[in-house]
Amino acid sequence: MRAALYNGPHAIEVGDRPDPVITAPTDAIVRVVLSCVCGSDLWYYRGESPHDLGPIGHEFIGVVEEVGREVRGIAKGDFVIAPFIYCDGTCAHCRAGVTSQCVAGAAFGNHGIDGGQGEAVRVPLAGSTLVRVAGSGYSDAMMRSLLSLSDVMCTGHHAAVSAGVKSGDVVAVVGDGAVGLCGIIAARRLGAARIVALSRNPARQELARSFGATDILAERGDAAIEAVRELTNGVGVDAALECVGTGQSVATALAVTRPGSVVGIVGVPHGVDASIAVTIVFRNVGLRGGVAPARAYIPELLTDVLEGRINPGRVFDFETDLDHVAEAYQAMDERRAIKSLVRIGAKETRR
Ligand SMILES: [Zn+2]
Repeated sequence: MRAALYNGPHAIEVGDRPDPVITAPTDAIVRVVLSCVCGSDLWYYRGESPHDLGPIGHEFIGVVEEVGREVRGIAKGDFVIAPFIYCDGTCAHCRAGVTSQCVAGAAFGNHGIDGGQGEAVRVPLAGSTLVRVAGSGYSDAMMRSLLSLSDVMCTGHHAAVSAGVKSGDVVAVVGDGAVGLCGIIAARRLGAARIVALSRNPARQELARSFGATDILAERGDAAIEAVRELTNGVGVDAALECVGTGQSVATALAVTRPGSVVGIVGVPHGVDASIAVTIVFRNVGLRGGVAPARAYIPELLTDVLEGRINPGRVFDFETDLDHVAEAYQAMDERRAIKSLVRIGAKETRR
């Protein structure tokens, strides 16, 4: 089969990999229909996070081609969403809802595990990992939103849930990438009354507004902190979503949050100073978040997607096919794209 291969920083190429086969009775083989590039893939692309040479990509939807004899609840021909980390559904962490820390789990697309940016994927622990989507004949817009549930919409949701966003809250969203934009959808969905988005890019500002942002601030750093404090009469916001992961974005999120509140942090940390602990203690601001337990969130978000209440697939503003996957990375690296979709296969099932 053909798949995107990480050959080192700035070197994503399409190459041949062995066709995946069932190696454990709990495996399934999924033929990928849509995949995409994650902001975290960019850290690998830029050489700022380590990544094994070989398969890459952890977000995909597709059709089940084959299942091992112990797979329950998923059958050949099913249309499925894969959360970006597979999980057993039974360990203590899974039972607590933190499927992203499953003791038997791992992410797709690294350490030799098939990547979503390829024609097919061996999915370990398939019965407890894959989420079946009933029905067929979905529009392209719906397919994009279903793909977003593999990671980005669940990650935005995790930021909002971790920050404790509730009805009537004033929420700040730091980061206008796809995760931040999905964080706006999530904050609105949880009832936020006012959502302040930090963005200086006109296209992203427009999408932020259509997702529910009520205020847009183009300022950065200290000026952004000052502007949010002014908007909230010097109090600070009830919850902040940190969706970037840099030292400055974490510092901004902590600074705009009122005492007693929590920053939901989901950006992959790079250059975050340990002195933020001083802020956490002396401003009485909490910090929680981490890797989104997508498998735990997909069912409730899927209902909202299928019923048209949320349209997170609108974050995809660049599209290509597997042959041109390198361009999908370049477009995001150069910030020409919010998030790149990679069209891989047809949804029609082959029986
Ligand atoms: Zn588990």
